[in-house]
Parts: sequence; structure tokens; C-alpha cells
Amino acid sequence: MAPPRTLIAGNWKMNGLRAALGELAAMAQGLEALSAADRLDVLVCPPATLIAEAAGAMADRGIAIGAQDCHPADAGAHTGDLSAVMLADAGATAIILGHSERRGDHGETDGLVACKAASVGAAGLTAIVCIGETLGQRRYGLTLDVLERQLAASIPASLASEQLVVAYEPVWAIGTGLTPSLDDVASAHGFLRDKLVARYGSEAGNGVRLLYGGSVKAGNAAELLSITNVNGALVGGASLKASDFLGIVSAACAG
Ligand code: PEP
Repeated sequence: MAPPRTLIAGNWKMNGLRAALGELAAMAQGLEALSAADRLDVLVCPPATLIAEAAGAMADRGIAIGAQDCHPADAGAHTGDLSAVMLADAGATAIILGHSERRGDHGETDGLVACKAASVGAAGLTAIVCIGETLGQRRYGLTLDVLERQLAASIPASLASEQLVVAYEPVWAIGTGLTPSLDDVASAHGFLRDKLVARYGSEAGNGVRLLYGGSVKAGNAAELLSITNVNGALVGGASLKASDFLGIVSAACAG
């Protein structure tokens, strides 16, 4: 069975004023030059303030636009929050959920992430569910236990496998310049693939894209993306500049 189509996703976090849309336009231009749309999918998740304008500007330009979080309800008295339905209306096609910065900064639990993922599925969008161990958990040999628990508890039964992307992001690798060894990434992704196959069956479980995230750059993308069961990357810092992000996409296209 052929592996799922590669996805390179950028997470701009709380970065980017309207002027940053120029970087997005430069990315689109670079993707055209690489004929990247023939080979892989590219998604950029800017801050919510830029989603509608970015989605308008990127329509038919090879970059899908996503969001970084949502509230589990569709609407209601939740000051300051945004629902999956609203983000879809603004032009988002996918929503990152359970990023370790949200789990850490906002105390998000697996249960809350699962509720959010259910709302993303109901809105017809793709849920990119982030999981990963802390350095302490890794040192105690708990990595696979943590991944198993987070995977099982962060994904609701109602979410169709076609609407799910899983991002393995070791917390200690995010924004640090550190990455696990290639063997460690292979072992985590192989483990997650087995769990997905057990949950959804062979065809659907093998069809779920498994992204690696944590200090991916142009210089290490090729080796990370060559690992079996690594179907793409979730990129933070290196997704802010077109030249950096295109270096990663280019490595993915060459693979
Ligand atoms: C992230 O925040 O999801 C991430 C992977 O960040 P970075 O690429 O900067 O490590």
C-alpha cells in the first residue's frame, strides 16, 4: 500500500502581522517553481487574525490555510474564543489541536482535545492532533506509554480517520534545535502506526498521516522525511520565512 501523501504544515504560533502575508505570497511563488502541488500538500496555520485574508489570497495557489486551536462548542457565551465552524467560515481547512504550548500554557487535557477534535470533524475540517513526551518522561523511559495514552484519549470516536492527522512532537524538541535520533523517530512513528491500524483497520489506519514536529529545518528535513511512517512535518520557527519553509518543502519534494 502506498504511503499517504506528504503534508508539510507550518505553525506560525503568535507571530505575524498583516505584512507577513508577503511571506505567504513568496511561499506560493516558490511552490509554483517547485511544482510542489503535484507531489505534496502544504498548509500554513497563521494566527487567527490572518486566516480570512490568507485564505482569500492563497485560493488556488497551492497553500491551504489552517488554524491553531478552537473551542469545542460551535457558538455561545465564550468570550474571546473561536469555534471550528467560525474558522471554517473564515477559510481554514484544518485546525491544530493539543499543541504542547496549549497543553502547557492553558492546561489543556486529552479529554478537552478530544472534544475539540469532535467539533473539528463535525465542521468538516481536518484535525491535526499533537502528542509528545516531555524530556522527563523520555528520561524515565515513558515515551511510548505517553504516546499511547495521548493518542487513545485525544481522538474522539466520532472523528473519521480521513479527517485525522497525528503530529508526533517531542515537547523537548520544539523550538530548541534538538531532535530525537532517526531511530527514535522511526520507533515512535512505527508504534503510532500500529496503534492507528489497531484502531481503524489496515487501510484506514495506514492512510492517517503521521507528521514529525520539533526543530525541523531545511538541513534535517530530508533525513527525517525519509523515515518510514513519517508522512510529513509540522514546522514552527522555520515556517515563518518563505526561504526557510521552501527549503523544507524542497527537501520533501526531492525525497
Ligand atoms: C511546533 O511548534 O509545532 C514546532 C514544531 O516548532 P519548531 O519547529 O520551532 O520546533
